[in-house]
Parts: sequence; structure tokens; C-alpha cells
Amino acid sequence: MKNRIIELAKANGADIVGFAPAGRFDKNSPLFKIMPETKTVIGFAFRVLRGVYRGVEEGSTYYQYTAMGVQNMEETIMPMAQLRVCNLLEEEGYLAMPQRRHQMIMAEENSTNPEVNYNGIYRGKVQEKQIDFLDTAVKCGLGEKGFHNALLTDEFGPMVRYCFVLTDAVIDADEVTEPHLCDKCGKCKNACPGKAISDDGKIDEWQCAVYYRGANGTKNPFMPPNAFSDFDDRIEIISGEAKVTPETARGIIDHLDFYPPVHIYQSSICARACDIACYVHLEEKGVLVKKFKTPFRKREEWKFSISDFE
Ligand code: SF4
Ligand code: SF4
Repeated sequence: MKNRIIELAKANGADIVGFAPAGRFDKNSPLFKIMPETKTVIGFAFRVLRGVYRGVEEGSTYYQYTAMGVQNMEETIMPMAQLRVCNLLEEEGYLAMPQRRHQMIMAEENSTNPEVNYNGIYRGKVQEKQIDFLDTAVKCGLGEKGFHNALLTDEFGPMVRYCFVLTDAVIDADEVTEPHLCDKCGKCKNACPGKAISDDGKIDEWQCAVYYRGANGTKNPFMPPNAFSDFDDRIEIISGEAKVTPETARGIIDHLDFYPPVHIYQSSICARACDIACYVHLEEKGVLVKKFKTPFRKREEWKFSISDFE
């Protein structure tokens, strides 16, 4: 059955499939509150097309990353593969429960999710457990945890999204990947246009939410020269030097109307520059299994001058 699951998932868009036994998870994991009968967790990683990052790399088009790399992946491609695999497991008489990230539910009272509007998130209101997605992906053998808390895969580096199916079927497990990709080079941290990644790799979600949506004018072709004219620290914001709090972040985000959202998903102006920098680094080192005919980065990165806003 394992091979049938892998084949079916791959026929429906998954690129990497891994299996973890329930015994690999802490007995207090939300996994066992969600489905106590779980015997196997099946992880699926889907490549985010390298091509959808190109528009942002070149500064030419921004819609494709959020539409095809986030919204379509989360709402169409990934659920379809999960449903098909769940159907197969149910046909065989097993329980199967898909697990995909809910973008609008958050246990933390004062954090946020950069991919959606902060004021649409239900914080602490919904007492529903979610699994730890990154930890579960690592335990399924999909890849390793990179410095900036991205899943790094042998095939596509951090350019993936992922989801899971829980089942009571006992299926042969895959090995957990021994970390070998992340060399702690720090390029992910240095690439962030808003300094949202700290020295220990932790991401400040509010800082990220502000700069994910393009508060750094030197990397945002849609920002007018007089942006943030009501803000005393407008040059700090536009240069990526502002240190935000949850309160000031809300005020800045309310002025980030440079580009329309794609359904509930806020358009990313940084297009996850942290992941792009990591991908470029891993590609240059030649450690990614999936090779392309030309390198992703073809020329020096572009940047506007802060003097354009002064
Ligand atoms: S950019 Fe370097 S430090 Fe960051 S995750 Fe990739 S390999 Fe690790
Ligand atoms: S590069 Fe973008 S996604 Fe990555 S931490 Fe910075 S703002 Fe967030």
C-alpha cells in the first residue's frame, strides 16, 4: 500500500512523500488529541515553482508568487492530493484524516501570520489543536530544519510547501533525514528586507508581516516616494531599519496597500527573500538534487536608493 500511496500522491502533485510511525512523536503531541488512533503520519512536500519567484527576483511581476506559489498550492493542489490519498486509505478500510495548516487560527494571543491579514486571525478563541508542521515534516523524513525555520529538502531546498495525512494504518516508516544542507551561512537572515530574523534564527512574525508585504521601499517597485508621510520614522520603515512592536506593526500594515491580495492571502512583496537566498546558496554549493539548466540568480540583485524617498 505504501507504493500505491506514493504513486497516487505524486500523480496528484506531491513531489516528496515520507512516512513516520506514531512512536516517533511525543505522547503529549496534539497529534494524539486530534486522532488518538494514529499509527502513521504521511508527509507530502510540494515544490513551489522556481519560476514563480522569478518575477520578484527581476522586479517584473509579483502576482505569480502569491497566486501560484501560495494560494493555489494551499487551496487546490495540496488538498486534492490529500483527499485522494485519504480516499485510498478509506477504500482499504482505514481511518484517514488530512492535516493542513489553518491560516486564520492561532493559539498565541499576540502573534500573527504574515500570509494573511492580521485582523482576520482568530487568536486564542478557537480551542482546536494544530500539529507542529515543521517538526512533523522533519519526522516524516521530508527534509531538515534550516536556520530560519524553513524546511530544507534535498530536491528543492526551501522552495516547498507541505501537509500531512494521519492514518490508523501501519505503514513502513522512512528514516529521519540527517541534517546536511544548512551550514549556518546566515544568508537567509541577511536577505530579509526587514531584519525579521534574529541571530538565533527565530523569526519575529510581526516584523516579518510588515516586510513580507513590502514596507521596505528599496525592494518595492510599487511604493510611491511620499509613502508613510504621516509617520515620524518613515525613513527607518522604508529602509527596513524600523523595529516594530505588535502595535506599531498594525499601524504600518494598515498603510501597506501597494498590491491587492489574492483571496485571503496577502501578496508577498519580499516573496520570501530568506528562502530565495537560501535556495541560491544551496544551488551554488551544488547540493540540491534537482538541477536546472541555468542558475536561479542570473544577475546582481536590484535595489532602489533610499534617497528616492527622502
Ligand atoms: S541560508 Fe544558510 S543558514 Fe539559512 S537556512 Fe539556508 S543554509 Fe541555513
Ligand atoms: S524575507 Fe520576507 S518572509 Fe523572510 S523573514 Fe523576511 S519578511 Fe519574512
